[in-house]
Amino acid sequence: MLELRTLSGGTATVPSAEVEALAARLEGGTTLTEDHPDYDDARAVWNGLIDRRPALIVRCAATADVHAAVGFAREHEALLAVRGGGHNVAGSAVCDGGVVVDLSPMNEVRADPARLTVHAGGGATIGDLDRETQRHGLAVPMGVVSETGIAGLTLGGGLGWLRRRYGMSCDNLLGAEVVTADGGVLRAGPDDEPDLLWALRGGGGNFGVVTGFEFRAHPVGPETYLLFTLHPGSRAADGLRHFREWAAAAPEEVSAFAVLWHGPDADPIPAEHRGRPVLGLVAVHSGDPEEGERALAPLRAFGSPIVDDSGPRPYLDIQRYFDADYPAREMRYYWKSRFLRDLPDEAVETLVKLNESSPSPHSNIDVWQLGGAAARVPAAESAFGDRSAPYLAGIEANWERPGDDDACLAWARDTYRELEPYAAGGEYANFPGFYENRETVLRDNFGGNLGRLTELKRRYDPANLFRLNHNIRP
Ligand SMILES: Cc1cc2nc3c(=O)[nH]c(=O)nc-3n(C[C@H](O)[C@H](O)[C@H](O)COP(=O)(O)OP(=O)(O)OC[C@H]3O[C@@H](n4cnc5c(N)ncnc54)[C@H](O)[C@@H]3O)c2cc1C
Repeated sequence: MLELRTLSGGTATVPSAEVEALAARLEGGTTLTEDHPDYDDARAVWNGLIDRRPALIVRCAATADVHAAVGFAREHEALLAVRGGGHNVAGSAVCDGGVVVDLSPMNEVRADPARLTVHAGGGATIGDLDRETQRHGLAVPMGVVSETGIAGLTLGGGLGWLRRRYGMSCDNLLGAEVVTADGGVLRAGPDDEPDLLWALRGGGGNFGVVTGFEFRAHPVGPETYLLFTLHPGSRAADGLRHFREWAAAAPEEVSAFAVLWHGPDADPIPAEHRGRPVLGLVAVHSGDPEEGERALAPLRAFGSPIVDDSGPRPYLDIQRYFDADYPAREMRYYWKSRFLRDLPDEAVETLVKLNESSPSPHSNIDVWQLGGAAARVPAAESAFGDRSAPYLAGIEANWERPGDDDACLAWARDTYRELEPYAAGGEYANFPGFYENRETVLRDNFGGNLGRLTELKRRYDPANLFRLNHNIRP
């Protein structure tokens, strides 16, 4: 017997024979319950803070497996989680007592260099996508850590090094194959189910399971220019102001952020800056590396960096540059964010102080430069909504010991509150904390799109099977 948590919060008892029948229907996938030797590995997600015990995990190898797993959950009215890369900070890829549809084996990627398109399975990571596209000198705008899943990232927007030149990941989504709550397998594209495609561009996992994505790809690399300088905390406010002036006039080939952080305990950080506040200036120019060096020289010229690791590099290496800073499962994470309407001097001072007060040296506050192609998409053109904010403050509490949980959560929440006077409204849906600000995201991010999103939720998921997300209630 399998005890399942249901959508209404109760439990349902399912005979083992039904689970066996599901397993027999899978075309390459497997089912895992808690007696399986791989169960603990399969239920773990990137964030070490998350410890959930699903009743059943269906590792899907094909669309047919996803179809069968969604059908099983629907029949039993089971709580359902969908897992792409398992990198959502809130851990929404897993749930206690419910069913997990795990797409991680579905990570195939095929580029079509003649059409400048790429097909990627719903379980692919950014690294999977980059490896295939770079073989053809192409790239799709994705995030800045290669182990992140493309699915959750794209459905929530997708901000990376190409955002100002080619837009967000969701802006480059041309089509998708979607398994819907009623068991349909739909092709969403400009001609078929265009409303569904619109909703997938920023509306999150509300509408079904995306088994395959089709993206627009762009010529990038193989070498591009990375700027990475680190400055002592004593220069952090000056550096942020310099960043602000530079960012306002930067070319769109460049996407950048400033990061308030503490010097890591690793080479090449000088001993006196380890564990002490620092400011990082990080930018990528996605065109010709020599042009990149010229375009980034004014940002690189700031101060006397304690580390300057700038230079031309393979785009693939740049995409992996921060991977080691975000180890999976070992560390605990809680991330929030706020779009900022400006970066006045008081905001700069506040950000510097907040970084200095962080209880963990691994935590950081990133000030993402927005604008460019990502900002040109009108709010009504995709579910994502308004893109007018010039900056995003990413608040990342990152720590090691369970004993520091309360202090680190409180620091992230205080930081979020302290930034209120500079907020543009809305938060980045992909840095959702524990989804406690769902109402804010629905109201401020989706804004005028919420009515259309709610109608589409009623059409594609009237029973709200897909609810572990910024949930749009039908
Ligand atoms: C180390 C790290 C770095 C990051 N860097 C960036 C960055 O540079 N830019 C950026 O924009 N974001 C970034 N993020 C945030 C990232 O976009 C989100 O965490 C995103 O949810 C990750 O997607 P995933 O598929 O790995 O998530 P998962 O945890 O697998 O899924 C999250 C949610 O997405 C939905 N979902 C997942 N797969 C599917 C699917 N196939 N079909 C339908 N719904 C699905 C479900 O609702 C699920 O609950 C980063 C996150 C991490 C952990």
